[in-house]
Amino acid sequence: MKQNIIVIGAGLSGLMAAWQVGQAGHNVKLLEARDRVGGRAWTHPDNNGAFCEMGPSWFWPGQPVVMSLLNHFGIDHFEQYADGIVLFQQPDGKVGQAPIDSPMKGSYRIDGGISKLATAIAQQLDPADLLLNHAVDTITQQDGVVLVSGTNTDGPFTLRAERVAVAIPPRLAGEMTIEPAMPPAAVHALHNTPTWMAGHAKFFALYDQPFWRAKGVCGTTISRRGPLAEIHDASPASAEVGALFGFVGIDAGRRAAAGKEALIEAALDQIAQIYGEEARHPTQTYLQDWTQEPFTAGAADQAPQTHHPNYGLNLDLGEAWENKLAFISSETSFTNGGLIEGALESGIRFAQCVAELSLKLQDEPTVEHKASMDWDWFQG
Ligand SMILES: Cc1cc2nc3c(=O)[nH]c(=O)nc-3n(C[C@H](O)[C@H](O)[C@H](O)COP(=O)(O)OP(=O)(O)OC[C@H]3O[C@@H](n4cnc5c(N)ncnc54)[C@H](O)[C@@H]3O)c2cc1C
Repeated sequence: MKQNIIVIGAGLSGLMAAWQVGQAGHNVKLLEARDRVGGRAWTHPDNNGAFCEMGPSWFWPGQPVVMSLLNHFGIDHFEQYADGIVLFQQPDGKVGQAPIDSPMKGSYRIDGGISKLATAIAQQLDPADLLLNHAVDTITQQDGVVLVSGTNTDGPFTLRAERVAVAIPPRLAGEMTIEPAMPPAAVHALHNTPTWMAGHAKFFALYDQPFWRAKGVCGTTISRRGPLAEIHDASPASAEVGALFGFVGIDAGRRAAAGKEALIEAALDQIAQIYGEEARHPTQTYLQDWTQEPFTAGAADQAPQTHHPNYGLNLDLGEAWENKLAFISSETSFTNGGLIEGALESGIRFAQCVAELSLKLQDEPTVEHKASMDWDWFQG
């Protein structure tokens, strides 16, 4: 039975869900609050050959969904540059050699950036089904039909569906008005699921070439001084230009108090101490603070995360919402929660649930339950 489905949020989980349920023959609308797709998966567009991953930089061997998708769309990947010495900066600023490999050795980067993957999935949708600048704030029911309401550039809107997937960070989902109310345990679980990396900020400095490589250092520095706590080579595979990026190691409150200009200056001071004076004069810098992004971070995400939480949500949404509502952001994945692989897995899992429900609801199949790719091997 063909269903009308709304997916809220065009990050990787929502894109994947919308693509897969659409491929299975259902009517789907994907609503996105921002004016772009990808969510946290965002590559800065301007760059002279460099590409700056303001969100995720890496994926890892053993993550089959992202690898299958890159192969499917013909998008290349390459290994994180890790040849050479790892540096360590002490609290007094002194820099020495760390007797370790880069912690990111063996990880992969997407050539051209992760936005390429988000865009490739978005292009599988009928453009009329992707509604950008649609911020949802309310999900209700009327006579068994789900009403999804919010605001777009023209004002308030309401759309109707039989089934809704909420592909936004759980904490933000917990702030939505959902009537009838879900069981308190479900609401509590949404509020208490941290949004992976939402408390972080990333700094990029671009150069004509990755000059540190010639000095025998791989670009990775672990710093106890800051403001950057961990720095990596972020140059493109071709190395035709150079890029360094660092995670800002001070919390959101202190970042805001310092101000963007002062933070960039302090970061350049630090990388000049580490990599030499050449590093003080990049061709371009970028600073992305995710706590300033209302469609990623809520009030509880202002504090930085110190460890990767034990993710995975299997919520009892109560009788009123059974088979009508699902939460599918990356953080709901038990296997790769918080990661891009988890987001893609969650999107596929939602499409599989829709397919199973459709089969239960119908006597005569009217919808072809064929995904665009063979996900039979995927048991996530
Ligand atoms: C700095 C940083 C570094 C990271 N590094 C890595 C890494 O190296 N490797 C890795 O695997 N993962 C990494 N991650 C995590 C990875 O980015 C996420 O797991 C993944 O992108 C989440 O996808 P998602 O679709 O579940 O959620 P999101 O990407 O958050 O997508 C949610 C979407 O919903 C939209 N939205 C929000 N509210 C509303 C609303 N009310 N109405 C409509 N739309 C709404 C948002 O605009 C967004 O597009 C990193 C994240 C960050 C921020």
